[in-house]
Amino acid sequence: MTTLTARVRTLAVCALLATAVAVAGCGSQAGPKKAAPTPSPEAETSRPPTLAPGPQGLAPVFKNGERREKVVALTFDADMTADQGTRAARGERFDNPELIRALKRYKVPATVFMTGRWAEEYPAQAKAIGADPLFEVANHSYSHYAFTKDCYGLPTIAPKDMKADVERAFKAFEKAGVADAVPYFRFPGGCYDRTALRALAAGGVTAVQWDVVSGDAFATDADAVAADVLGGVKPGSVVVMHCTRSAAPVTEKALRTIVPALRKQGYRFVRVSELIGAQGSAR
Ligand SMILES: [Zn+2]
Repeated sequence: MTTLTARVRTLAVCALLATAVAVAGCGSQAGPKKAAPTPSPEAETSRPPTLAPGPQGLAPVFKNGERREKVVALTFDADMTADQGTRAARGERFDNPELIRALKRYKVPATVFMTGRWAEEYPAQAKAIGADPLFEVANHSYSHYAFTKDCYGLPTIAPKDMKADVERAFKAFEKAGVADAVPYFRFPGGCYDRTALRALAAGGVTAVQWDVVSGDAFATDADAVAADVLGGVKPGSVVVMHCTRSAAPVTEKALRTIVPALRKQGYRFVRVSELIGAQGSAR
């Protein structure tokens, strides 16, 4: 599948979400802002590296590592929207323990962008993911409401409530027992603008986008998802996938192809923190 058709398919999926309001990872059209890395924060403390604020103090945005070394960060959005509790109560599964098990089996480090609502629904899984050194837990908002208007039909959160929504997710992680969530934030739907970046400026988070869309949202063909990923990855890439079984049912199956194929090409899997930490020495 070509990149273009992959994007068309992804956008079609996103259009579907206009009514389903279930999943992010629908490619953002907003361009990332460049931001200078902070000098080796890991050298002094164990805190994860972050980017320095962008122009005019806006929250910084990281898209991909632009590395020469063959490294790739698989990221998994653990989506659950604030109003999906009744669906979960009826048995719909927004988690994907098989996927997490597969990552552990393959020993693939990964970054999980979790909504606070997901952590409330699946506290034991949130805690276990947070406690596993393979993984880092990052913030995908509490509510999974959009931070801009017209974002794939997601309900929109007001700018005055944005920072609090992000903080509420971190609190939900703590309550679930995630001790050390990383200060990275993925906008629901990947949608952001200057207003959103300004609203988060004081929050201390680095926004993390991606350069490879897996197209796993509502996909039924694992081979097509794998082909999209393998066709898009380059050194330093960030791949967006999902850890939400009901809305991304073939992700684990696609990994069975993706992981060995990328390793065969010489790729090493890393967490987003490694890409951000290395940003300063990448050029
Ligand atoms: Zn999402």
